[in-house]
Amino acid sequence: MVVVGCALLGLLVGSFANVVIHRVPQGASIVSPPSACPACATPIRPQDNIPVVSWLLLRGRCRACGEPISARYLLVEIACGVLFALVGARIGWDWALPGFLLFVWTLLVLAVIDARTRKIPNRLTYRLTPALLTLFVLAGLLSGDPTTALRSVLGGVAAFAALLVIALISPRGMGMGDVKLAGFIGIGLGYLGWGYVVLGVFAGFVVGGLSGMALLATRARSRRDLIPFGPYLAIGAVVAVLAGDTLIRGYLRSVGLA
Ligand SMILES: [Zn+2]
Repeated sequence: MVVVGCALLGLLVGSFANVVIHRVPQGASIVSPPSACPACATPIRPQDNIPVVSWLLLRGRCRACGEPISARYLLVEIACGVLFALVGARIGWDWALPGFLLFVWTLLVLAVIDARTRKIPNRLTYRLTPALLTLFVLAGLLSGDPTTALRSVLGGVAAFAALLVIALISPRGMGMGDVKLAGFIGIGLGYLGWGYVVLGVFAGFVVGGLSGMALLATRARSRRDLIPFGPYLAIGAVVAVLAGDTLIRGYLRSVGLA
């Protein structure tokens, strides 16, 4: 039940994620005007705006002008549905569920925007970070465990501070957008435990480092190109939420601590 409900909700808010991904980097409003074809500006009719289904029925083309509509729209909706279903399965019916859904939705949006524009917009982090913190503090208090609420706050501060130090030491690779994103990630992972905060940031660096080496090796990127780091931090955070339990226990067992 939770998983199916989350998947459907994910497809719906995946549509909205596309609007945010498209409009926020342009500085446009995300509520008006209603969705329109990027090529001919014809407003999209409600029956053509059904997540995933409409894109497939129209074969990825605008009904009015026939211009192709990027497969990114389809992929973001599917990714959002899948992420929500996985979070539903992992967290279950819990006070923390809304927080973790907002968590993965935001990470998906910021990762795609960062990959496209190499910027993580303050307009999003400044609004969504307090919203996320509120959800997790409430979840901690409502589930009768104030220490998880406190750990959420401290996790955010610690991850922000850790990336700030790294950004100051090596200002080339990392921007303040990444530091703010790390603060956002620390809030969600802090709710689960300190091991998750460490694992999430570490996994981000591992995935980022490996991809960076692969891109350099295949000469797809030269060393001077700026490789956006946000998507890797986001992937690391999602891995920590979904598989952190297994990974942390495996690690503790391998070093003989569990
Ligand atoms: Zn069109």
